[in-house]
Amino acid sequence: MILDGLEPRSVFRFFEEICAIPHGSGNTKGVSDYCVRFAAARGLEHIQDELGNVVIIAPAAPGYEAAPPIIVQGHLDMVCAVAPGCEKDMAREGLDLFVEGDLIGARGTSLGGDDGAAVAMILALLDDPSLPRPRLEAVFTVDEETGMFGAQGLDVSPLRGRTMLNLDSEEEGVFTVSCAGGARAYLQWTLPCEPVAAQPLRMRVEGLQGGHSGVEIDKGRGNANLLMGRLLRTLRETAPIRLVSLGGGTADNAIPSACDAEIAAAPEDAMALLDAADRLCEVYRKEYAVTDPGVRIRAEMRPTEKLNALGEADTERLLNALALLPNGIQAMSADLPGLPETSLNLGMLRLDGGAAEMTFSVRSSVASRKQEVLARLRCAAAVFGAEFEVSGEYPAWEYRADSPLRERMLRIYERMFGTQPQVLAIHGGLECGLLAEKLPGLDCVSVGPEMLGIHSPAERMSISSMERTWRFVREILKESR
Ligand SMILES: [Zn+2]
Repeated sequence: MILDGLEPRSVFRFFEEICAIPHGSGNTKGVSDYCVRFAAARGLEHIQDELGNVVIIAPAAPGYEAAPPIIVQGHLDMVCAVAPGCEKDMAREGLDLFVEGDLIGARGTSLGGDDGAAVAMILALLDDPSLPRPRLEAVFTVDEETGMFGAQGLDVSPLRGRTMLNLDSEEEGVFTVSCAGGARAYLQWTLPCEPVAAQPLRMRVEGLQGGHSGVEIDKGRGNANLLMGRLLRTLRETAPIRLVSLGGGTADNAIPSACDAEIAAAPEDAMALLDAADRLCEVYRKEYAVTDPGVRIRAEMRPTEKLNALGEADTERLLNALALLPNGIQAMSADLPGLPETSLNLGMLRLDGGAAEMTFSVRSSVASRKQEVLARLRCAAAVFGAEFEVSGEYPAWEYRADSPLRERMLRIYERMFGTQPQVLAIHGGLECGLLAEKLPGLDCVSVGPEMLGIHSPAERMSISSMERTWRFVREILKESR
């Protein structure tokens, strides 16, 4: 075992066991069954639903029989990110853990500290019969990262608690107490293609910083899908072009850092178009010198072949949509300075054989503002002749002025660590909103140990931070009566 000897021992033992089981989003059967075996082996009441969510219930410790139950919650799935050149098949193989100073990482891949840290901590809590604590209701959800599908489908009827500690945060010393709601929106077209004998050109916008649309949408970073739209629209001033294919972005909630396009042009226009692309590259490099210093455009000629291209009118239609659709910050919070209130991100752009799709992640801490953005997208879809669809809607987690849990945690934190934590509302999404909707009156706070680079091969988890977080969580339970 790689993590042998690290403290807290029990937490890291469970963490290592989880890391040996592939558990990317959509592939959580193994880790879900592992939780069931854990509960069965200890004679703990447990429920596994069809989705793979697991609820494990441990009765109150002596002296805590009258204390209100506490829900502890985290998600079972992780984002699988593999570094270029790494051969790991994350659908089948466990992770190769390593320890480097105070940090744990996985060789060549993401670590899944988000949210394996929570699962390991909760199992360790359940595994310790000597821990003084109220009735514990452990909730492990699946597929948080791809749309909170587990939390959406969770049957909460076994839960008696109305106090919840969510362990899906990655910054020590921060209590998250509110988050934005969200939805995914799709604009789709089925457009006629026709074979044309033309000069194929390939364009690639790359090198943008990207980032998480819940965390970095207010940083002014470029969106590769929109920049591609702008590039192609501007190229049409040089010569007529027709769209063949588009492909940009990897997820609706990631700001795209690269986008590819194939276009058809008349052979005699090809050189002028390539020159124009080079000039525009310089323009964009200047514009984005601070936010995205790595931005580049690669433009190249391909061997002449028969292409299946959109007509000129449909090419114009898609490029106009990319020019006019709203994107980025729509409003900043009036209550909390610096907090984005409403935003959207065109995370994915596709065109293949006439099937075009634009996928947005929409977020707002104000439910009616989220609906307004969705309504505007619906209007745009009508104007540009697209089908429109919304999925994966989740409610905001609203700030609770009166929160006994938060007060208790503040008191304990100050006593233990001698400093005050930050109490934060975030623009990202957490399952707390969905669960608060299902559990009226829920009093909830989210915390977690320090992690770096989550959702990427650079993900690391701090050992010392885990140790402090573990002691803190135990203390919260101990004082919950
Ligand atoms: Zn997470």
